[in-house]
Amino acid sequence: MRAMVYRGVNDLRLETLPVPKTGAGELLVKVAACGVCPTDIKKIHYGTVPPPRVFGHETAGTIVRVGARVKGFAVGDRVALHHHVPCRDCHACRHGTYAQCAQYKLTGITAGFEPAGGGYADYVRVMSFVLPGVVKIPARNSFTEGAMQEPVNTVLKAVKRLRILPGDTVLVAGQGPIGLLFTKLLALRGMKVIASDLLPSRLKLARQWAARWALAADAPDFADQVRRLTHRTGLEAAVIAVPVDAVVLQAQELVRGAGQVMVFAHTRRGAVTEIDLSRICVDEKELIGSYSSDVTLQKEVARLVFSRQLDVRRLITHEFPLEETAAAVALAAQPKPDSLKIMVLV
Ligand SMILES: [Zn+2]
Ligand SMILES: [Zn+2]
Repeated sequence: MRAMVYRGVNDLRLETLPVPKTGAGELLVKVAACGVCPTDIKKIHYGTVPPPRVFGHETAGTIVRVGARVKGFAVGDRVALHHHVPCRDCHACRHGTYAQCAQYKLTGITAGFEPAGGGYADYVRVMSFVLPGVVKIPARNSFTEGAMQEPVNTVLKAVKRLRILPGDTVLVAGQGPIGLLFTKLLALRGMKVIASDLLPSRLKLARQWAARWALAADAPDFADQVRRLTHRTGLEAAVIAVPVDAVVLQAQELVRGAGQVMVFAHTRRGAVTEIDLSRICVDEKELIGSYSSDVTLQKEVARLVFSRQLDVRRLITHEFPLEETAAAVALAAQPKPDSLKIMVLV
């Protein structure tokens, strides 16, 4: 089968690999679509994990082989996959912090080599411990809608960490595909969203897609505009969907007492930023993060996406064939004014 193999920093090669063998508790899925995700881009550009690997974890496709011990799935089922699934039994899981579970940190989907998602390949092996993460795609929905399950889940999980009530004002900094998902999900829950970005095209889309206000992030009076829009009381919460420390610090000023600032894009380790901790102690402002998905939200995510209440088709701007995965990754890393979510079609 064909697979796009990561061989080193910025080095993706189309190679021929054996179709993965599967065990009695496993599935083999023929990949149809796989989303390009910032966490994969980071690994490819910075070489944070050793090669060789086949990346791609926002995967949807068709089941072509079902292990003898697998229940509830049949050959021909169209499915969306989750590569991380928690054990739901350990210390972390009992506390509901699934992304810190040791099993969760394992990757249960592979096209070969060290498991890394494998979606940039013709077939993936789906291991038994991630079967609770397999979601069936309704007949009327596309594979690319299926491939959006995982990113939407990560955003819904983060939204649920916010202590907000309908009518609250929330800033979403950054209107890339993830920021736009935050904007829409928060609006669906009755929040007044202030969207910010540097690209006018993205601000326009944010406005069309339910942001109450859309502000240029580099406007000299940005902070004043936010204060005016919140009648000087401050934001209830801010979501930082760009990996920029200054934006976090500014948001920390713009939230009201006991407001929350959620960092969602700061995945690169090692950078250090000074913060005034009295804001957290005296003003009770919370600085929180959220990472990856929550398996318990899958039904809710499937309902949102497949009903098209959250119509993710509007976010998918580019589709590349498997052979052009490197170009897909490059575009996702350096977005153009008209590019949002990028899919690899296999
Ligand atoms: Zn992802
Ligand atoms: Zn666990």
